[in-house]
Amino acid sequence: MNENLKEILIDELESELGAAKKINVQQIANEIQNIGFQCMICGKCCRRDFGDNRVAINTSEIHDIENQSDLRLEEIAEPFVAEVETPEEECEINEADGLIDEDGNIHTFGWMLRRKENKDCSFIPDDSTDHRCDIYKLRPLLCSTYPFYMEGLKLNTSECEGLGKEIGTQQSYELAELLVKRYILELEDTILTYKKYNGFRTGENGRIIAESYLKQGYLNYIVHYSEGSYRIVKNI
Ligand code: SF4
Repeated sequence: MNENLKEILIDELESELGAAKKINVQQIANEIQNIGFQCMICGKCCRRDFGDNRVAINTSEIHDIENQSDLRLEEIAEPFVAEVETPEEECEINEADGLIDEDGNIHTFGWMLRRKENKDCSFIPDDSTDHRCDIYKLRPLLCSTYPFYMEGLKLNTSECEGLGKEIGTQQSYELAELLVKRYILELEDTILTYKKYNGFRTGENGRIIAESYLKQGYLNYIVHYSEGSYRIVKNI
């Protein structure tokens, strides 16, 4: 990403942030009530077998969990990576085209909640009939507002069995408040991430070096996020 493109993206995000801060929460609440939603406590949004379960988490949410638990950053989060249709098709190098530097490090933007080997969220019990979140009170806003999200100033929904079920006025309003808060935090986090980002050098051998790491069972990541960049080794 060159400096020009970076400036353009930051300008666009800052104007979206300005508009997001003026969103009418009551209007979003009305839309939520019209759509309807009740959590079925099925745990499907936390498990990979039922679809894309990546949970983007911003820096302040990571710090909240760190401060109120004995968990460290790398136990909470991992690099935000692309997802493909099924876990079996996943090869993190294939998904990283253009993001590998001359030393074989894969560069990513932002964090997502750490997942287990089977790609379920690391905070959902292994027993697939138990859907209790281990960090329920500290869970990120993406979890507490699922299946709703804001994009381009509009309310959107992800796939969920609970959609269409009756929801009360108060509950709709509380959900709308959280959604707008999440939207603003996400935009602020992304703007800071771009501001801190200084690029990286690609080279002919980068992919070959990354493949040699993969053969040894790990990959090196550099995560660019709102506090700078963080090097992390991920066992594959
Ligand atoms: S943090 Fe909790 S609610 Fe969120 S995906 Fe993980 S288990 Fe599910």
